[in-house]
Amino acid sequence: MGAMRRPSTILAVLFLVAVACGGTEEPVVEGRASTTSTSNEERSSVTGTPDSDAAGLGTSEATDPAEPDVPAAGKSSASTPSSSTATVAASDPSCRAPDHATPDPKRPRYRMNVDVRLSENAVFGDLAVDFTPDIRTDRIVFRLWPNGPRSARNGARLDIFELRMNGRTIPASVENPTTLVGRPEGGLAAGQKVTVTLPWKLTLPGQSSDRISRSGDAVRLGSFFPILSWEPGVGWSTNPPTSAFAEASSSPVADWSVNVKIPPGLTALASGVYDRPGHWQGTYLRDWAMSVGRFTLAGTRVAAPHPVQVTVGVHAGIAESPVRYAQRAAAAIADLGRRFGGFPDTEYDLAITPGLSGGIEYPGHVMQGPGTSGRTTPHEVAHMFFYSLAGNDQGRDPWLDEGLATYAEARVDGTIGQMQSRSIPADARGRLGEPMTYWESRQSSYYRGVYVQGAQALAALGPLDQVDCALRHYVTRNAHEIPTNRSALDAFTAVFPNAREVFGRYGVRG
Ligand SMILES: [Zn+2]
Repeated sequence: MGAMRRPSTILAVLFLVAVACGGTEEPVVEGRASTTSTSNEERSSVTGTPDSDAAGLGTSEATDPAEPDVPAAGKSSASTPSSSTATVAASDPSCRAPDHATPDPKRPRYRMNVDVRLSENAVFGDLAVDFTPDIRTDRIVFRLWPNGPRSARNGARLDIFELRMNGRTIPASVENPTTLVGRPEGGLAAGQKVTVTLPWKLTLPGQSSDRISRSGDAVRLGSFFPILSWEPGVGWSTNPPTSAFAEASSSPVADWSVNVKIPPGLTALASGVYDRPGHWQGTYLRDWAMSVGRFTLAGTRVAAPHPVQVTVGVHAGIAESPVRYAQRAAAAIADLGRRFGGFPDTEYDLAITPGLSGGIEYPGHVMQGPGTSGRTTPHEVAHMFFYSLAGNDQGRDPWLDEGLATYAEARVDGTIGQMQSRSIPADARGRLGEPMTYWESRQSSYYRGVYVQGAQALAALGPLDQVDCALRHYVTRNAHEIPTNRSALDAFTAVFPNAREVFGRYGVRG
């Protein structure tokens, strides 16, 4: 399995109390740690406060992404087993999937300071990233997702103050609300490593069912800073944003060193490993996200098959126990780890915060709203394979994360039969492979057209254990990469020689 291990999250010292238990396959969840946490002083407080008079590239208004999960589903009369008990996946010994692909050694390396100042209703930051394009390019593109339509409508705004390359300011412009383009003189040659730095400021919105949200002292911070949209071998992803509860982003795996400062008394859960006060380290993560709040914490350790630390925080005022979420997540991690070649991370952090319907996934850190311990929880765990490990361009090929995660969710819950019995709207039928731009004007059909139809297409391949094997091929071959329809169909064909024909009927070609 090589170097596929992508460590993930957390913070909190007291957390250790909750966690030091068990490494069995049976998830064991222990009690909760207190809601308080790390004080400000414990966090290293490097801060990147941009000069307010720095050369302004100010963003204009907006437009962008948001991702959702699991919209309400009218229960269709299910024809098949619908036990909500997890089926125990036996890893199919006859499944001969290759080892995980190894990450690009020239992947970007981010160093970031994030200072959450609720008194100013803003997050100040700066980042430096080492970037090495694998093909020639005349631009450097950062996506500014908070300026997308959904987030901006709620009051989010990301401002950039200056773009420097190797210490020198370069011409840059905000070409549209979600796209910052820097134009280094002479461009960048393939293999030419540069260091790009930029200070930024995020203005927080109010409570919104979105990846960026503030409800009092509960804050969701997903897709909240400028991020490189490079696709190795292809170039810059410049997808338009979507106004749906969905995303259109694409970013390569990267390494992260993030210093975080938050107000006293609050706790943060985030992508990567919390390795010293106020600092997270992450390797092979294609994005970085964080939730801040007054969390009641619970943790457990599960074998998937290597030990995975699960941490759940439920924000104060939400009348649910983190234990149930931790149990659900741990069971799904163990189950899907067996099916798909081992869970990609050593940690899994889940934050339950107010005002969110469903869930939103980031590598090693998932955000869910109240009342989502049912289908949403295994669905988001599945995204650690489909999106986080084997990535995808979520604007170009949304079925590659959503359809595959929905199939996996249904395998955990034993609900494939229910999925198969659901009808697909006429404007979505046979259009599984359409990009987000197609769904933008058909948002009411998006869930069934991409999530449900994706699960149906996979189930149509053949026996489900072999479908699991085909997905294992997909995950391991495309680990740390940004696969396309072609690479997905190639992987499926390794198990089902007629995979192209089957998917062609659903509108996926490549
Ligand atoms: Zn999803």
